[in-house]
Amino acid sequence: MIQKCIVCGKEYDIDEIIYTCECGSLLEIIYDYEAIKENISKEELRKRRIGVWRYLEYLPVKDPKKIVSLWEGGTPLYKCDNLAKKLGLKELYVKNEGANPTGSFKDRGMTMGTTRANELGVEIIGCASTGNTSASLAAYTAKSNKKCIVLLPSGNVALGKLAQAMFYGAKVIQINGNFDDAMDMVKELALQGKIYLLNSINPFRLEGQKTIGFEICDQLDWEVPDRVILPVGNAGNISAIWKGFKEFKETGIIDKLPKMTGIQAEGAKPIVEAFKKGVKEIIPEEHPETIATAIRIGNPVNYTKAMDAIYSSNGFADSVNDEEITKAQKLLAQTEGIFVEPASAASIAGLIKLIETGVIDKNEKIVCITTGNGLKDPDAAIRVSDKPIEIECDMDILNDVINE
Ligand SMILES: *Cc1c(COP(=O)(O)O)cnc(C)c1O
Ligand SMILES: [Zn+2]
Repeated sequence: MIQKCIVCGKEYDIDEIIYTCECGSLLEIIYDYEAIKENISKEELRKRRIGVWRYLEYLPVKDPKKIVSLWEGGTPLYKCDNLAKKLGLKELYVKNEGANPTGSFKDRGMTMGTTRANELGVEIIGCASTGNTSASLAAYTAKSNKKCIVLLPSGNVALGKLAQAMFYGAKVIQINGNFDDAMDMVKELALQGKIYLLNSINPFRLEGQKTIGFEICDQLDWEVPDRVILPVGNAGNISAIWKGFKEFKETGIIDKLPKMTGIQAEGAKPIVEAFKKGVKEIIPEEHPETIATAIRIGNPVNYTKAMDAIYSSNGFADSVNDEEITKAQKLLAQTEGIFVEPASAASIAGLIKLIETGVIDKNEKIVCITTGNGLKDPDAAIRVSDKPIEIECDMDILNDVINE
């Protein structure tokens, strides 16, 4: 196991606390894949409880006794026949990450990240967050007896997420700026050595998140979908999942790879713009805006990895507006019984758009990832729902109302 720069290839010891290469580029964790291949088989994996730690050999842990877990992962992969029928698709699945312990996929990153913090012996962990990262980190630091500092943007933090961060006992600091400003500030704190940083710039967090890719194959009985669609904010998750699929192929578990398809919100889409131009560099969005607060990010830290995932998988990137997101959020709830937060619905909205524009072939086997639980952001749901009908306790009135 080593940490390696994705651009210049410089290698760093696995025990070194470092977030980016000397050259300024992102790092990733590299394993001895031949050794994994020898030690692991599908049958062996299946003997263990499903979840992040089923795939222990693929994770950067030296001492399994240091693992911090709240039973993350093992989320349902729903076959969505009602929605598939409505959209004219042959085979559609939703991987519902809202079923994680704190209600988002961030838990997969944090079980790994806090385990890493345990191995390093660090005591204070911090992050910048639009909400879910802070909720998750706060829970995992509570579980592992560490201190937690979270920086949130002013306003616009979904109520459920804020409640979680506060309730798990984090020091919650709201800055008068947006997520990208908060990110700059915690990076500075990490450089000063005041905190161990668990944003997705930290390659260890992404190692946990790549298990979404593992589980999708596992739950499809080792078949690989043609396409995976997910919302993209800081672009860590799409990069992580792509790495997971590649590692399963490298170690002989699967024999093909899916097209990675990233969906951004209309008001925060630097990756989509780069993709449309066919380039690898992004131009940050100074004033990101969208109802989907979890992807309201103008300067995604992992864009280099994400562009690689999209281009080398022959994938796609597109954007959807807030109205399309809300419509898709309702459609998923009302056809499949899956309630997700607005950012997660971007994957469904993107699916619909890419069917309409002919990018997606209706015979593809598709997995949409819904990243966070609908209860995270009750305000967003209530705003777009019909109000309850209020009546007196009178059977005649009740009968009139239900007959309407
Ligand atoms: C964090 C988050 C995202 C964005 O993931 P990135 O890795 O930042 O691209 C999307 N949806 C939800 C619900 C999230 O919490
Ligand atoms: Zn480098």
